[in-house]
Amino acid sequence: MWEVVQVRAGIAYDCDVLVVGGGIVGLSTAYAITRAAPGTRVTVLEKESGPARHQTGRNSGVIHSGIYYRPGSLKARYAVKGAAEMVKFCAEYGITHAVTGKLIVATERAELPRLHALVQRGRENGIPVRELGSAQIGEYEPEVRGLAAIHVGTTGVADFVGVARQLGAASGAELRYGAQVVRVDRRPERGVAVLTSRGDVVRARVLVNCAGLYCDEVARLTGDEPGMRIVPFRGEYYELARPELVRGLVYPVPDPAFPFLGVHLTRGIDGGVHIGPNAVPALAREGYGWGVVRPREIAGTLAWPGAWALARRHWRYGGGELLRSVSKRAFTTAVRRLLPVAEEADLVKAAAGVRAQAVLRDGTLVDDFLIKEGPRAVHVLNAPSPAATASLPIGREVARRALDMLGSV
Ligand SMILES: Cc1cc2nc3c(=O)[nH]c(=O)nc-3n(C[C@H](O)[C@H](O)[C@H](O)COP(=O)(O)OP(=O)(O)OC[C@H]3O[C@@H](n4cnc5c(N)ncnc54)[C@H](O)[C@@H]3O)c2cc1C
Repeated sequence: MWEVVQVRAGIAYDCDVLVVGGGIVGLSTAYAITRAAPGTRVTVLEKESGPARHQTGRNSGVIHSGIYYRPGSLKARYAVKGAAEMVKFCAEYGITHAVTGKLIVATERAELPRLHALVQRGRENGIPVRELGSAQIGEYEPEVRGLAAIHVGTTGVADFVGVARQLGAASGAELRYGAQVVRVDRRPERGVAVLTSRGDVVRARVLVNCAGLYCDEVARLTGDEPGMRIVPFRGEYYELARPELVRGLVYPVPDPAFPFLGVHLTRGIDGGVHIGPNAVPALAREGYGWGVVRPREIAGTLAWPGAWALARRHWRYGGGELLRSVSKRAFTTAVRRLLPVAEEADLVKAAAGVRAQAVLRDGTLVDDFLIKEGPRAVHVLNAPSPAATASLPIGREVARRALDMLGSV
């Protein structure tokens, strides 16, 4: 059947660039392509019935300033630039957003050198920060306690689902929903043909893989070995029943060994205060609760040597996160370090998200954004936080590579 369709389809292309994935990164890429090269025909295939149903629609909604990231890294460069562009984009299109600023609070002595290192890092990344002593924390957050803190003024919150939808609309791309890519046939002289779960065949000159939690699988469908696998880490949230206890955004000092920021308190665009996310291994790539188990996906993760190496290296940290996942009391204890007045009864379970975290064969958690190319294909292989913040610069970079490729085929 596949071969028959291939022959019948001839060599007429349905589009120039085919984007797999209608999250914020795929839609930003579509937008950047049509901005940079008007007239380029772009089709986006998304397996869900609408845009942004996975990471983009299940996150903290924070416009990150860029303070955490290694100077010179893609994360640092794109977050700083992306945060400013995100605010402008939201203002231009009337998308809900606010620049609120945030506090990063040290609650233990051992965290003070790391807090100080963040101040330096922020300055190197060109981010204005204000150092606060214990007594000054109350100026921003009367109920928060800590030994010291820093205030970062450029952090904000935004409706990333609204941003994704607007990027898709403004791109002029053909957006096809309910279209899961299940097979890819790539030939140097004929371009790329994909088969969707609906039985459609779409032919393109170049394929762009922005499939998020499935980006490694889509890369392998094209025939490229990405050299990493996605290990899904669920982030669970609670909602604060007394939102008046927190005015803005309050974060702990992160552990530099992990690309996760630690459980934080975030007043979102809806006025509610979200608490989370933790980081626990998910039993399915879209496993938003312990009850969602996909044996094929678990087997795939376990077959990757990097997953075992990761578990061996970080079992202690993982154990703490697991405890906070199954015990609300343990989760509340973590929250009370920042917000001592919080009670267990103040925490109301909310929807979770799952991070698409790339892990290398040796167990290294890929820290920076990772974009790789194969013949007629560009793969976005690691775009976890702050990729929503940084989606406009990421989209431009992916678009640049796709357009360069288009020029050479
Ligand atoms: C818990 C959590 C908190 C976060 N907090 C923040 C934050 O505060 N600020 C920030 O900047 N970032 C944050 N992030 C990161 C941010 O959400 C992601 O970096 C960003 O949404 C990635 O976008 P994406 O388009 O790559 O992925 P996604 O939004 O996951 O989109 C990928 C899309 O591909 C589709 N797809 C997959 N396979 C196929 C296929 N075979 N065929 C067709 N379609 C397919 C999926 O359905 C999906 O819609 C957070 C993430 C999580 C999980």
